[in-house]
Amino acid sequence: MTHSDSLLQPHILRMEGYIPGEQPQEDNFIKLNTNENPYPPSPLVLERIQTACNADLRLYPDPNAMGVRQRLAKLFTIHPKQTLIGNGSDEILNLILRCFVGPNESVVYPYPTYSYYEKLIQLQNAQSRIIDLNDDYTLSNEVFGTDARVTFIANPNSPTGTVLPHTTIEALAQSLKGLLVVDEAYVDFSGPGSINLVERFPNLIVVRTMSKSFSLAGMRLGFCVASPVLIAGLWKAKDHYNINRLSLIAAEAALDDINHMKKNATQIQDTRSRLSAGLKRLGFSLPPSAANFVLARSNDSTTIHLYQELKKRRILVRYFNQRRLEDCLRITVGTNAEIDIFLTAVEEILHNSSENI
Ligand SMILES: *Cc1c(COP(=O)(O)O)cnc(C)c1O
Repeated sequence: MTHSDSLLQPHILRMEGYIPGEQPQEDNFIKLNTNENPYPPSPLVLERIQTACNADLRLYPDPNAMGVRQRLAKLFTIHPKQTLIGNGSDEILNLILRCFVGPNESVVYPYPTYSYYEKLIQLQNAQSRIIDLNDDYTLSNEVFGTDARVTFIANPNSPTGTVLPHTTIEALAQSLKGLLVVDEAYVDFSGPGSINLVERFPNLIVVRTMSKSFSLAGMRLGFCVASPVLIAGLWKAKDHYNINRLSLIAAEAALDDINHMKKNATQIQDTRSRLSAGLKRLGFSLPPSAANFVLARSNDSTTIHLYQELKKRRILVRYFNQRRLEDCLRITVGTNAEIDIFLTAVEEILHNSSENI
């Protein structure tokens, strides 16, 4: 009998799994930890899903996701052949590693950023080249002109919330021989993004998600835009029925009522200002956020304590026990009411702990 560990590939045995933000099983939490949207999806989404809950669920879904791709084509003035729908954008990131990176080939990404990139690189037994962001969270010059197979840039970035200008993305695409992946999970809280560069740069893939701005994290919907050649490659690797029938219907409806998303995104930008101002008043420093969360840095070392005290009060935020983030909390922009409760709680906790010194 072999020890069952030895059945696993050594690189899988070595790696640790990704740890997603907590999803508490009770629902009386104010959840500001995983960048979900505090507002419900469009009523049209709910209505169409309800209608679609019928005997047709015995049938496989459309493997081409044509309804969704046609809507995206119209929205971004691209051809449907330039887009692929994923089971969350996480699936698309996964497909990118499988299609573009071999064992021991290198992948560049800045630090700190979305930590799932590292997991995907380890899963592929590839090499990561981690290049620290500058102190102001701008991109180090070292990211430009490398010979890496793939470079990942989250723009706006998580957990910093900062955004790189369009001209930087353009210059980066220009400088790289390998693939540039711009992960625009938070773009709807920021600006127009980089889809319009895809026409000019055959080495660019722009990845987006409906989890955040469209309030559809539970439906698992992401998409990407790239040249037809790159999309055709990714297509070979995807599961044929990767998006279930109800999710396809949800995506179509969400795109048919895109104003609902835009209205919520504007509200979230407003609340983001209120949250940022409140945290600054309480002594935190924050890089300017272009996303639906803020990264708050405290200048004393109470961050973990604050996280724990908030959790006792049933408010969840994200704490990263990682280099350059130990003194930070990432707080998702909730509703105005949630943010007011959060700010009041922080003020109380800080006040109590200063009395105890
Ligand atoms: C949330 C997030 C994703 C994952 O989105 P899903 O579509 O829910 O899989 C990808 N990239 C970044 C930077 C994110 O923050």
